[in-house]
Amino acid sequence: MGLVSFIPFNAAPWIGTECDYIQQAFEAMHVSGDGAFTKRCQRILEQELGVRKAFLTTSCTDALEMAALLLNIQPGDQIIVPSFTFVSAANAFVLRGATPVFAEIRPDTLNIDEALLDDLISPSTRAIIVVHYGGVGCEMDRIVEIAEKHGVAVIEDNAHGLFGSFRGRPLGTFGCLATQSFHETKNFSCGEGGALLINDEQYVERAEIMRDKGTNRSRFFRGEVDKYTWVDLGSSFLPSDILAAALFAQLERREYIQDQRRRIWNRYQAELQEWAGRHRVGLPFVPDHCQQSYHLFYMRMPNLELRTALIAHLRQHDILSVFHYVPLHLSEMGRRFGGFAGQCPISEQVSDTLVRLPMYAGLSERDQGRVIDAVKQFSFQSTELALTASAL
Ligand SMILES: *Cc1c(COP(=O)(O)O)cnc(C)c1O
Repeated sequence: MGLVSFIPFNAAPWIGTECDYIQQAFEAMHVSGDGAFTKRCQRILEQELGVRKAFLTTSCTDALEMAALLLNIQPGDQIIVPSFTFVSAANAFVLRGATPVFAEIRPDTLNIDEALLDDLISPSTRAIIVVHYGGVGCEMDRIVEIAEKHGVAVIEDNAHGLFGSFRGRPLGTFGCLATQSFHETKNFSCGEGGALLINDEQYVERAEIMRDKGTNRSRFFRGEVDKYTWVDLGSSFLPSDILAAALFAQLERREYIQDQRRRIWNRYQAELQEWAGRHRVGLPFVPDHCQQSYHLFYMRMPNLELRTALIAHLRQHDILSVFHYVPLHLSEMGRRFGGFAGQCPISEQVSDTLVRLPMYAGLSERDQGRVIDAVKQFSFQSTELALTASAL
């Protein structure tokens, strides 16, 4: 058969027009922020999702930091965040002095458990940060209702969920603010990048200023003020138009990219279902009222040992699979905020047993076939035997 090539876990999407557009950005002599491509990307996000305003940012992390600034998060404030998620959803608020309160996830979608929110909310709670894990929507009608009852903001970390929807409404339109990521690992990518989506009009003007070093430069360029100056807190959150050019190439072909991901996801689901059922392996759950974004495909192994053995087995077949997240409440930082083992048992169990299979728009049918075959060849019995032997 010859050499078997290595199948990576992820490869950044590549349409082919990225370089042309980057060249156009240089030819237009506008490669700093807020050039023509930035505006074109923002228009796609605004029109496709129906958000009041979209601002491209240098990352999702930066968009979350902007959200914390816009909410005037102060020392003493609390934010509620799922423990099973990426660090930025908590850190962006901790940077402003907030204390994170870690919430447990639902065992089915692995999203924040909305039933626990009422008990976690205190007089100091300022915001609930929700993460649509894998691009499957959190229970947003319930979450928005609880947040409104307590006068608390909802921020959607929608890094996984671009173009997914909940009860027919796009993810990223439920919170007063939402954030996107265009990091290499996401469905659409310019290497490092993100966006802040604004659904509440009151944040638009200030967000524009905060994104541009706390200045009113955008207003100056529009002729609304006669000089530009420092007017508020801010930082350099706006990305180069070079990055926006690469991103535009992909956002323009969003249906093509999403179709490829849908096909790959559906094939994993179809071809692994019977095998998974036989071996008590969990596959993703997508409620009927959620249209997912096909961001990732995971399996939940019966225990940590079998997960470790499966990753090693796939590695022997030249396939890279990965796990995540270390629950935030068990992280070094999380423990400083009082996190302890047993605090969120579902998050802990999922963290020990979840494995993600290669999933990217350019994954060929043949390579995906190799992944599926290798998974099915995994021997549960020899792993169990080895474990028993090593325990003796
Ligand atoms: C990727 C990711 C982020 C961070 O995105 P960056 O653009 O790398 O800052 C934040 N939250 C979640 C859930 C993510 O998956």
